[in-house]
Amino acid sequence: MGNYAEFYRGSIDQRDAFWSEQAKLIDWHQPFEQVLDYSKPPFAKWFVGGQTNLCYNAVDRHLKERAEQKALVYISTETGQEKTYSFRDLYDEVNRFAAVLQSQGVAKGDRVIIYMPMIAEAVFAMLACARIGAIHSVVFGGFAAHSLATRIDDATPKLMVTADAGMRGGKTIPYKHLVDEAIRLSANPPEKVLICHRGLDPDMALVEGRDLDYASLRAEHLNATVEPVWLESSEPSYILYTSGTTGKPKGVQRDTGGYAVALAASMKHIYTGKPGEVMFTSSDIGWVVGHSYIVYGPLIAGMTTIVYEGLPIRPNPAIWWKIVSENKVNIMFTSPTAIRVLKKQPAEYLKKYDVSSLRSLYLAGEPLDEPTARWISDALGANIIDNYWQTETGWPILSAVPEIEDTPRKFGSPSFAAYGFNLKLLHEGTGKEVGTDEKGVLVIVPPLPPGCLSTVWGDDARFLSTYFSSFENELVYTTFDWATQDADGYYFILGRTDDVINVAGHRLGTREIEEAISAHNNIAEVAVVGVHDEIKGQAVMAFAVVKDPSRTSTPEEAALMEKEVMATVDRELGAIARPAKVHFVTLLPKTRSGKLLRRSIQAIAEGRETGDLTTLDDPGALEQIKNAVAKWKAGK
Ligand code: ATP
Ligand code: MG
Repeated sequence: MGNYAEFYRGSIDQRDAFWSEQAKLIDWHQPFEQVLDYSKPPFAKWFVGGQTNLCYNAVDRHLKERAEQKALVYISTETGQEKTYSFRDLYDEVNRFAAVLQSQGVAKGDRVIIYMPMIAEAVFAMLACARIGAIHSVVFGGFAAHSLATRIDDATPKLMVTADAGMRGGKTIPYKHLVDEAIRLSANPPEKVLICHRGLDPDMALVEGRDLDYASLRAEHLNATVEPVWLESSEPSYILYTSGTTGKPKGVQRDTGGYAVALAASMKHIYTGKPGEVMFTSSDIGWVVGHSYIVYGPLIAGMTTIVYEGLPIRPNPAIWWKIVSENKVNIMFTSPTAIRVLKKQPAEYLKKYDVSSLRSLYLAGEPLDEPTARWISDALGANIIDNYWQTETGWPILSAVPEIEDTPRKFGSPSFAAYGFNLKLLHEGTGKEVGTDEKGVLVIVPPLPPGCLSTVWGDDARFLSTYFSSFENELVYTTFDWATQDADGYYFILGRTDDVINVAGHRLGTREIEEAISAHNNIAEVAVVGVHDEIKGQAVMAFAVVKDPSRTSTPEEAALMEKEVMATVDRELGAIARPAKVHFVTLLPKTRSGKLLRRSIQAIAEGRETGDLTTLDDPGALEQIKNAVAKWKAGK
């Protein structure tokens, strides 16, 4: 075991030496001449002059040693289908897909939008684009036509790949139909739409001359081999739009060589994945976690990746543990929300299967609260590792790095800065570094390490104005998140900088108040927002889900419970943070990626329009918020 602090220092102080060592983890067609070109800050070009290909690194290079090893295991609890692909099968499928794309005139630099459910063909499509140097932009299947149209107009794809339909919780989602609608709304639609027909939507309509059937084209290219197109390291591999939790999505542009190196390095140091082992990431290919740790990361590392279409609780809440047990999963990656869902289920589901193959569970995307971390840690007996990162960075900013050193974890903290990330916590007003345990904005001192966004697609000015202009005295990348660092160096994320509530001049983080409320033993989950208040500027309003609903079943009981919650906040944070009102609901509005839609809750609480809600998971949750607020206003 090494010393992580030393490893980290090396990554910052001997940056070039550090990264040129990591760069050996991938195959280069032509070696790079310069580790980093930083002549135009903050634009960073990694591994200048090097030529490589993401698909080659994920697939071809494994043929020599592990052609017959499983590369991809596809499991759908929606259709009941299961299929396994060895690295050789994957190679064949990707070559066929690449040949089909080429037959439609798709070439290096062309954009391809992939709007697909979680099926193996979606992965083939991504790898095929990478193989021929086409730039893919995967759009999450939960986005409706309008959001898809916005992304079409921004990325201007030559071709789109879709399926007739997907399924979620047994319900059919007509993907192709949504593509038709999006194309109608788009100012700059693609020439071709390639459709993987799953037989789920027999009524699917086709547009002559535009719509193509993947199965028939594949049959024409069964024996095709397509040579990888070698890209210069900083040429783009893909565009991925951010979740849009806080406004208009930004087209994150990723390079090729830096991303490949960053993923290979993170698979080794952070995820400890070894060739031949199995990784199960329960995200979706439409999110950054899916790009990095369903598709490229595990495959680059020579691991088997599990592609799962389905919910965590269907056909029953043991399904993930069944997958872990049957596939001897070593590394798992999911979100805190998913774990909280499982936590509400009867405990016996976790005991049904032998999950002893599981070494570590990684969680990311939102704050991992201590009770949830503790519960899953006890239940699984595996390492629980909280990762903090963003679509923009492509891999963790904060994480334990267990391959280097098995540092103790503190629940509630994603541990330390990952190697390569030079972090600071700056005071929002003065721009000066804050002290131990003091709250600051988490920023990255550029150059951003390999794997991070190289710019915003087609908009360098937006890259600068969005990310690099928060502080006057220093050029830094802002994460827009609040954090503290304790005396042992552990970071704690407190929430987003635009989620601050200002009560009578006191700036309070929504997350801080939520944590305080969660300290009450009957609170399962809570969302806190600031609402306009004539006197105090803003007042705190909380929407809470209780564990035992019988304690809020009558208005009297609910009032009692509200008092208890308020007293808990008084005790934990002080009366200044006490909610003016605690509403009890059974569900909170979240995006399909599990992020709380605080902005929409706030809009409703203040009687405003909620804006674009196409990522909303369950509309019923917003209805509850509306009803609660209306009832409260009527009674006031
Ligand atoms: P947009 O930028 O379009 O508003 P988004 O920020 O929700 O969307 P993502 O890039 O998917 O899109 O999410 C990154 C954010 O998620 C982080 O900035 C942080 O607020 C939150 N986050 C991610 N991981 C963690 C974690 N481990 N702990 C706390 N917060 C996290
Ligand atoms: Mg963001």
